[in-house]
Amino acid sequence: MHRRITDKLVIATHNPGKLAEMRELLAPYGIAAVSAGELGLAEPEETGGDFRSNAAIKAIAAAQATKLPAFADDSGIVVDALDGAPGIYSARWAGPSKDFNAAMAQIERLLQERGATTPDKRKAHFVSALCVAWPDDHLEEVEARVDGTLVWPPRGTAGFGYDPMFLPDGHNRTFGEMESIEKHGLPPLGLGLSHRARAFVKLAEICLEPR
Ligand code: IMP
Repeated sequence: MHRRITDKLVIATHNPGKLAEMRELLAPYGIAAVSAGELGLAEPEETGGDFRSNAAIKAIAAAQATKLPAFADDSGIVVDALDGAPGIYSARWAGPSKDFNAAMAQIERLLQERGATTPDKRKAHFVSALCVAWPDDHLEEVEARVDGTLVWPPRGTAGFGYDPMFLPDGHNRTFGEMESIEKHGLPPLGLGLSHRARAFVKLAEICLEPR
């Protein structure tokens, strides 16, 4: 049986870009959300081997620490020509200073080394795994992706992380050139565009009721 989120929720992230997006996604459902960063919770080590288990690790840690339902996202960019890298290590590629210009440059260097210079060889997708954990260990889990092509040089200053390099299929502007409302592409304007918005649409179907 799926379980509905009815009141207060902890957003288990210390990433300000993700936090802003997750708050925007939750807003239409009237759910008050406080973040793990704001509560001063420790960041658990992401020891899982895939997005889904890392999302669960973060959500369970926050639910246990606060005794409230907790919502976590684990996400990243998967580059075909790099055998799926950086994948679950997407945040780590930016290093302790969280330098995503350097991380994008590293991807570009590796793509050039592998001769991936034409769009057909530069396919990538973002993945978002979402998990809501309750203090009694109940879990709700969903996952979604958005496919696209990596461009160089990066374009746009909106969004965060690898957004300026990612051109979603069917669009001519990168996520870095899109306002967040367009990047999410949520109903009633769309059916969900970004990986996080698509996963969120699935989660909303099973766990949320519009206010
Ligand atoms: P984690 O889920 O905290 O391990 O971090 C995922 C990392 O993937 C982020 O720090 C970003 O670098 C990248 N990422 C995930 N989602 C997005 C997105 O929507 N745009 C750009 N980069 C993203």
